[in-house]
Amino acid sequence: MNKANEFFLKNKPVFKIGALKESDLPINKITEFAFVGRSNVGKSSLINAITNSKIAVVSKTPGRTKQINFFQVGDSLTIVDMPGYGYAKAGKQEVQNWNALIFKYLLNRVNLKRVFLLIDSRHLIKSNDEEMMDILDKSGILYQIILTKVDEVNPKELELKLQSLTEVFKKHPALFDEVLYASSQNNIGIKELRNLMYDLK
Ligand code: GDP
Repeated sequence: MNKANEFFLKNKPVFKIGALKESDLPINKITEFAFVGRSNVGKSSLINAITNSKIAVVSKTPGRTKQINFFQVGDSLTIVDMPGYGYAKAGKQEVQNWNALIFKYLLNRVNLKRVFLLIDSRHLIKSNDEEMMDILDKSGILYQIILTKVDEVNPKELELKLQSLTEVFKKHPALFDEVLYASSQNNIGIKELRNLMYDLK
């Protein structure tokens, strides 16, 4: 078994804190990787697949996770589960509050190595993803797209969708120009994500 797989299988994630406001945000010296995306994009399932656990709550009610959750894996890595956005029933004020908290988290977070922006491979980028990308660009943190639920899209279609993202890369300075793929259902891309996080930590 490779080192990254061994690391994630050996170290069960531990819930550290759920931050609802700026003062809850923990001072953390350990390397962080944050996961963000529209609600229902498959974020919880992906975090669970990577950590081989059930730590992230797979949402029955979309948009229910409103806090920034910190999960520590071993003594050298933290997974940060950001609140899902784009929930239809969320009020404007609520959305503004979440975005403000996310921005405050992103600012001056020197140990945050990368933000993974999850995009549903069936729907690609929507206006609220663009909004999130603007927040990420402003914070200057390097972020990378993970296309989720790739089991739902055939490879040819996926290739076309990928090509359509070329223009998106040009518009967003902090966006890493390599797209990752994942399916928690079919265990696609999990090993690659573990390797990447393990190597960057
Ligand atoms: P979250 O709201 O972003 O945390 O998304 P969840 O992980 O709760 O998943 C939302 C829905 O998508 C659930 O019904 C999951 O079963 C489904 N889902 C999650 N990952 C996958 C995947 O890789 N493939 C497919 N086909 N469905 C998925």
